[in-house]
Amino acid sequence: MVEWFITKEFSTTSISKIKKKKYFGTKGSGNHSIDLVRPLTTGVEIREYAELWEVIQLQARDTNADDEITWRWTPNGEYTTKSAYRIQFIGRTRTSLFHPIWKAKTEPKCRFFAWLLLQKKILTADNLAKRGWPQDTLCKLCNSEPETPTHLCKDCIFTRASWDRLISWLQVGSLPPTTVTTTLKGWWKKCRAGFDKHNKPFFDGIIIYFWWNIWKERNRRTFNQVSKSEEEVALLTKEDFQQFSLAFS
Ligand SMILES: [Zn+2]
Repeated sequence: MVEWFITKEFSTTSISKIKKKKYFGTKGSGNHSIDLVRPLTTGVEIREYAELWEVIQLQARDTNADDEITWRWTPNGEYTTKSAYRIQFIGRTRTSLFHPIWKAKTEPKCRFFAWLLLQKKILTADNLAKRGWPQDTLCKLCNSEPETPTHLCKDCIFTRASWDRLISWLQVGSLPPTTVTTTLKGWWKKCRAGFDKHNKPFFDGIIIYFWWNIWKERNRRTFNQVSKSEEEVALLTKEDFQQFSLAFS
């Protein structure tokens, strides 16, 4: 794909003015332009430039037509509210795994936390250091590894023990171990793959409540200097999930 030129089709404006007289002269008149956004630097680019030039030369022209305004986002050039709505989403990126967060059986504040967590944006020691905030770099749950979002919510020995206790109580069957992948998102994906469409939002609710309670335990230890055991954190997670299920069943 050539990337070194701009034609009117590639204009960044929503409404393009088609200048038929200037850009669409009679065949073979040579009155055409290709605006380069940077100099051509390779043989391939020069060849593509020559080929494009040849194509433009062959276009039929109408020297008598007036310039006209057209809407570039529909095939026929006519404005529609539907097309105007759609162009708001041009350039967006999709991550399939973020979508289930918003359907998880959990409270909105926990969903939002999970969304931040999976983007590694929660304020663990590594992220605080990036902001220049002095902080003990060690994980408060094990006091032996650097505190990062992935370590805190997947790899920490405290977290793994608490998770094992939780899934044992909930009898959700065997799930992939936290060591099955290096990323939190990857582990979540592998775990939820074992549930059918109906049960996925429930599992997502459980794991998000678990992360939420791990985070609260981290904050208890960081700010209040009090701590709970792996089993107590698992129990709090179980209670959170059960209360939510009762309230919204
Ligand atoms: Zn740890």
